[in-house]
Parts: sequence; C-alpha cells; structure tokens
Amino acid sequence: MTLAIYNKKRNFKQTTEPSGKIKKSVSKLIFVVHRHKASQLHYDFRLELDGVLKSWAVPKGPSLNPKDKRLAMMVEDHPYDYKDFEGIIPEGNYGAGIVEIWDDGTYADENNSPREIAEKILRAGLKAGNLKFQLFGKKLKGEFSLVKIKTKEDNSWLLIKHHDNYAVETEYNSEEYTPENSPINQWMEENRKPVKKGKSKYR
Ligand code: MN
Repeated sequence: MTLAIYNKKRNFKQTTEPSGKIKKSVSKLIFVVHRHKASQLHYDFRLELDGVLKSWAVPKGPSLNPKDKRLAMMVEDHPYDYKDFEGIIPEGNYGAGIVEIWDDGTYADENNSPREIAEKILRAGLKAGNLKFQLFGKKLKGEFSLVKIKTKEDNSWLLIKHHDNYAVETEYNSEEYTPENSPINQWMEENRKPVKKGKSKYR
C-alpha cells in the first residue's frame, strides 16, 4: 500500500524507473543517496525500512559538518529496487531529468543493533519524528539524525550529522564530492548557457 503514490505518479511505459514492489535486503539494511537533476538539482536521501525506501529530497545535499542542518522534505516511499536506479527520466514524466547514485551502503540504528531490533527502533523514530542512525557509506559515515520540524506542510525534516570521528569542521559541499565526468555534470557542461557580454555582473 505504501508504494501506491509512487506507482500512481509514474508511467512505467515511459520511465525506466522500477515499478513499486515491496522487497527487502537479505542481510543488512541499506541506504542510498541519489543526485537528481530535475527542474532543480537536488539530492534524494533514502533509507530502507519495511521493504521500501523511506525518501527525503535534500535540496542542498547531505553534509558531514554537524553545524549544517540540511532541509529534507519527505517524499513518497520508493521501492527497494530503486536503490540501483540510475538513468534518464524522459521529459513529461514525474521527476524528469537525470538520476545518479552519489553514495550508498548499509545502515543501522544508532547502536548498530541486529537488524530486527534496529528496524523496531527506526520505525519508532520515524513515527516520533526523530530518527537516529549510523551510515556505513563510501562518503557518508557515522551517526546522523533526521528530525521533523513543525511546519504547515508537515513533511519538513532536518538532516543533521552528529559529532563523531567522521564529522568535519570545515565547510562541506556535496557537489565537490561528485565525479567530474558524472552524467549530470556532463549534461550541465553541455547545456551551460553562454554568458552574454554586458549582461552579467560577473563579467
Ligand atoms: Mn528527486
């Protein structure tokens, strides 16, 4: 049932995104961060729970600096198989643009409990609007939390890095940790609008 919105928003005759089916990883819980060039470039942060990927759109991307509280808008659950999705969503479709994986790995609750216990804790955290977890990614490592903030929209959260051995004190820009030749970067390079002389203040 939780994937109904996901399926409704998409036309699987047109997009190559996976259709929504409940499915679980075999051993450890997984997470994935997509970088998505849609109308706006943004990141999508996804955590596996109960056979789906709980998903948040993070406009500025994740940060390893605990001072950054990155806005994360909760969106519809995505199917587990979305973890491997990369590619082009054709124009006219929901989320049209380019999707690439920015980081992925396994994750657990803050105490790195065995899966069943971890899922119970994470489920409760999600419900309470205060989700604490550990990421074992290639770029994102250590403790984080997602904290729900009270707004009219009811889907606004903050993604926050905790102070630990993986935290940084310097400015963190996820864009700097993206391969230069990634499909999105290539697209942006090819579609960069030439700066008109006399119009730009940065001339
Ligand atoms: Mn997106």
